[in-house]
Amino acid sequence: MAYSLNRDFLLKLLSQIGPSGNEREASKVWQNEAKSFAKVYADTHGNAYAEAGGDSPTLMLAGHIDEIGLMVRYVDENGFVYVAPVGGWDPQVLVGQRVRFLTKDGGILKGVVGRKPIHILRPEEREKAVKVEEIFVDFGLSKEELLKRIDVGSYGVLDWDGEFLNEEKVVSRALDDRIGAFVILEALRLYAENPTSTRVVAVATVQEEIGLRGAKTSAFATDPDVAIAVDVTVATDFPGVPKSQIGDVSLGKGPVLAVGPNINQVVFNLLREVAREEGIDVQIEAIPRGTPTDANFIQITRSGIPTALISVPCRYLHSPAEMVDVRDVEGAIKLIAAFARKIAEMYKDSFKPW
Ligand SMILES: [Zn+2]
Repeated sequence: MAYSLNRDFLLKLLSQIGPSGNEREASKVWQNEAKSFAKVYADTHGNAYAEAGGDSPTLMLAGHIDEIGLMVRYVDENGFVYVAPVGGWDPQVLVGQRVRFLTKDGGILKGVVGRKPIHILRPEEREKAVKVEEIFVDFGLSKEELLKRIDVGSYGVLDWDGEFLNEEKVVSRALDDRIGAFVILEALRLYAENPTSTRVVAVATVQEEIGLRGAKTSAFATDPDVAIAVDVTVATDFPGVPKSQIGDVSLGKGPVLAVGPNINQVVFNLLREVAREEGIDVQIEAIPRGTPTDANFIQITRSGIPTALISVPCRYLHSPAEMVDVRDVEGAIKLIAAFARKIAEMYKDSFKPW
């Protein structure tokens, strides 16, 4: 199967503001892209669905469209804004960053994250990690001017977009998990060129970063026979990461298949078989618990859904400098499209592991 990376769509998806709870902008871009080759619909929780193929079996693909972000908690009398983190931030990452917030009228307001400069930090403060309550956002506006544009509850992100560092490496904020939402839709596009009886439903899930909440509702709604979640995973190929404790995952060596209790063994074996047949290199990651991904809740929906997790290796997770390799992205897309095409025939009667 020939596939060349849809770079324009990827960069556009990465530039949208979409923290958990306000994924609208990113989801709109995803749905618009899907319309040209799939049936598209959405639910009241915010999940978006793109569907192609026949009636049976049903394969659900999940990639979360939300990202970690910031929410306005309190505006002081001088217009300085204290923020609540949306999702798991390392507050060190926030210091010195530019930010952009969604305004009440759908526009964008830019600001910077302020903190006392080193000149006036006490020696003991220099030694300590900064906490989120010690930093604030400065929009350069008075409280009165500011409140015309944003309010308590407004959402923002770090002011970074996606960029190709070279032919292979992409850096951006929100690669976790726009790259998963991208992979599942591109896999569906590839599958839709030559579909089988399998009904493939790609879901851009919401609110993953605050507890896998969109996966829960969308898996129930889709009621699939088999599901694959696509997310990023921690690459261990950079300085300071103990491979003996975390495992060996590198950029450029292919998509990662998770193995462990969260993964149905039959689906895992089928994915490995398809990868071998298609000549796609894969890496294996051992996760001996429920994974911190949509796969976790999908697997325990209804009476249990046979679920697998395919991950794109990513460096510097939950920072504005997340990095992935397009070869891994392309590998994941081709693997999922081929699996979708073959599953109707490979699926004999049961995914029961024993
Ligand atoms: Zn994620």
